[in-house]
Amino acid sequence: MFPSFSLRYAHLPSRMSAECAPTRVANPRLVAFNHALAEELGFDSTAFDATEAAEALSGNAPPDGSEPLAMAYAGHQFGNFVPRLGDGRALLLGEVINREGELRELQLKGAGRTPFSRGGDGRAPLGPVLREYLVSEAMHALGIPTTRALAAVTTGERVMRRLPEPGAVLTRVASSHLRVGTFQYFAARQDVEAIQLLADMAIERHYPHLAPLSGGGRYLALLEAVVARQAELVARWMGVGFIHGVMNTDNSTISGETLDYGPCAFMDAYDPLTVFSSIDERGRYAFSNQPHSAQWNLARFAETLLSLLDEDHDRAVALATDAIEAFPEHFEASFGAVKRGKLGLVRVEEGDETLAQELLDTMQAGHADYTLTFRRLADVFEEDGEARLVELFDTPEAIRAWLTRWRERLSREDADAATIAARLRATNPAVIPRNHQVEHALMAAADEDDYGPFEALLAAITRPFEAPEGEPDYTQPPQANERVLRTFCGT
Ligand code: AMP
Ligand code: MG
Repeated sequence: MFPSFSLRYAHLPSRMSAECAPTRVANPRLVAFNHALAEELGFDSTAFDATEAAEALSGNAPPDGSEPLAMAYAGHQFGNFVPRLGDGRALLLGEVINREGELRELQLKGAGRTPFSRGGDGRAPLGPVLREYLVSEAMHALGIPTTRALAAVTTGERVMRRLPEPGAVLTRVASSHLRVGTFQYFAARQDVEAIQLLADMAIERHYPHLAPLSGGGRYLALLEAVVARQAELVARWMGVGFIHGVMNTDNSTISGETLDYGPCAFMDAYDPLTVFSSIDERGRYAFSNQPHSAQWNLARFAETLLSLLDEDHDRAVALATDAIEAFPEHFEASFGAVKRGKLGLVRVEEGDETLAQELLDTMQAGHADYTLTFRRLADVFEEDGEARLVELFDTPEAIRAWLTRWRERLSREDADAATIAARLRATNPAVIPRNHQVEHALMAAADEDDYGPFEALLAAITRPFEAPEGEPDYTQPPQANERVLRTFCGT
């Protein structure tokens, strides 16, 4: 049933990871399996067997040919450097080659203690496992680069958190798990050989167009490419109202995929200072701070590459500084394009940025829902459609005034109303995994062993551009009594 594994990471020098067998669990049960993703990864679907999958993906019987290991990494957590973090509860099984011929890493998250576990139990509670499953698959469906979720298995054991919770293991799929923190681990040990191996692996896997380059220019080009990709990633997050919540350097990928869905959440009403994470007391990773945080993380990445950039330290610093200072320009270009798309604009005009900002300001002042506002822009060309948009705002005059300016701008788009409405509906999702629905789905599964709400929500968020029918209405923001104000890492 499983495709064959290649063991690229396992074959790196032994100081880069720790071989580690998963710890057996009492009673594995497969509660979610992503058949479409399995197919892409080259699984043999005709041989699918839920019991075998549960045994393999709980870690009780790792698939043939895999060699579980914990990766070494360091990281800045909320600005403080921790020289040794590493996979404390995740094990890389190895890589598989998908149907497109690309390498994908399969990792079990919550598979037991590792040499990097420190005081932790190496386990994951079911709630956070299902949250990552839902939100990462939603991100994928929204077209945003992300790790994927292949499976969730309950362990039949309890894990102790604030309260005892059912334990679970997530199978995560990534184009790689290389993080800024992976480089930092070796930079802190002045291990230039390891840094170079990692940088070369990153180029081979994620930036193959740079492979012909050599010397310092090769690694400068890598840095510049990662800067551009992270800038685009954060712009895409912000286009859907996503707040990562823990943008520590150990959660910041070199591939430009979204990694680590802890206390992440989507914003309902637009407020750029929105924070959900219970551990982010000072709003370090608030919605509108995300570009700044990404740039800060990239500066830490740049520091790890200095000795590869140029033999002359000052010159290396100057090159790295220029690359990092290019971040805002990349971000503004990406976010500008995202916002133009959300307004249905294809042409580029000077006033577009202001027009977009005015809508955001109007949303904020009018306490309007971010996702619904953009979605209902497509309705204004229909009878009564404008009323459906305006009702989202506490300030109807202000949004009507903005709509007049927007219509005037649209008149220069060279496209009819139907074309613009279709563009808008293909860009602005109807469904995002709203926090109150996510919480409801997790609680039903964890407290009542009822996976109905999880499955219904998963079905809705994996077709985010379709307007779903039926109850519950997944397009709706929470009622006052349903609002979720805090999300927890749940580690
Ligand atoms: P995270 O908050 O998931 O990004 O994890 C930060 C660090 O804590 C990583 O080194 C994790 O491996 C480690 N960690 C998180 N939860 C656990 C756990 N339950 N047991 C052991 N290590 C953990
Ligand atoms: Mg992490």
